[in-house]
Amino acid sequence: MSFIDLHSHTTASDGTYTPAELVLHAKKQNLSALAITDHDTLGGLPEALIQGEKSGVEVVNGVEISTAWKNSSLHILGYLFDPNHPSLLTTLDWMVEQRQVRNQKLVENLQNLGIKITYEMVRDEAGEDIVARPHFAKVLLALGVVDTLDQAFDDYLSHQGKAYVHKVRMTPEKAIKAIRDAGGVPVLAHPQQYINEGEDLHEILETIVPLGLEGIEVWYPSHSEEMTQQFLFHARLHKLISTGGSDFHGANKPDIQLGTGYGDLRVEESVLHELKERAGLL
Ligand SMILES: [Zn+2]
Ligand SMILES: [Zn+2]
Repeated sequence: MSFIDLHSHTTASDGTYTPAELVLHAKKQNLSALAITDHDTLGGLPEALIQGEKSGVEVVNGVEISTAWKNSSLHILGYLFDPNHPSLLTTLDWMVEQRQVRNQKLVENLQNLGIKITYEMVRDEAGEDIVARPHFAKVLLALGVVDTLDQAFDDYLSHQGKAYVHKVRMTPEKAIKAIRDAGGVPVLAHPQQYINEGEDLHEILETIVPLGLEGIEVWYPSHSEEMTQQFLFHARLHKLISTGGSDFHGANKPDIQLGTGYGDLRVEESVLHELKERAGLL
């Protein structure tokens, strides 16, 4: 039997393998299909699809969108959408714009506090990465404004910090709608994470299933056997597809292997078949 992996990150977001390298790695791991699910971007898909055709690995269009839920961030995976659909692209562009506006405002707030920081310094610090608060922390440390990265967060960048800028966040509703409008299937990623953060999974599902959620990520490296059973129960209760994946990030999560997670993860091909049925592709 062949296995698949429906959750992976490339250098287009916070993974360390390029899209082509990741597909070749999937081939080496004997996976028949691989979904590329970078955070809030479809940037890795074209390269992965080309390499998939060359290598005989089925590359599945995917994305993982961060959305706001109380004190947590719900990650909504999307599969098998049309990657050129305008409403999905507009939604993802909106997120990039919001992030830029926020970063610029953060620079302004720091300057108003008398700190000689510029956006270019933070941009340079980030290099190829998307500019985020850890880059601000490093610049503040380099400027001698703080003695440690933790202090940069405590004094300036965290919720209680003097320069904090409120984040305008994507709603689950908007993300689910964008994925469905583009013909895709929205799936709630790694549910255990929200339980660990003190959220009520039942309440989450009661709220977002009516918005059009169609699946839940049941098989995931950190899910125990007992949790997996619990999520299978939720899937049946809400008539959701059960999906799974390793959430592979390369060297950024070195204990996680593509396809197998901590070694015992197995996602069967039949899961992709079900997703295709939901997407109306079969
Ligand atoms: Zn996630
Ligand atoms: Zn992920």
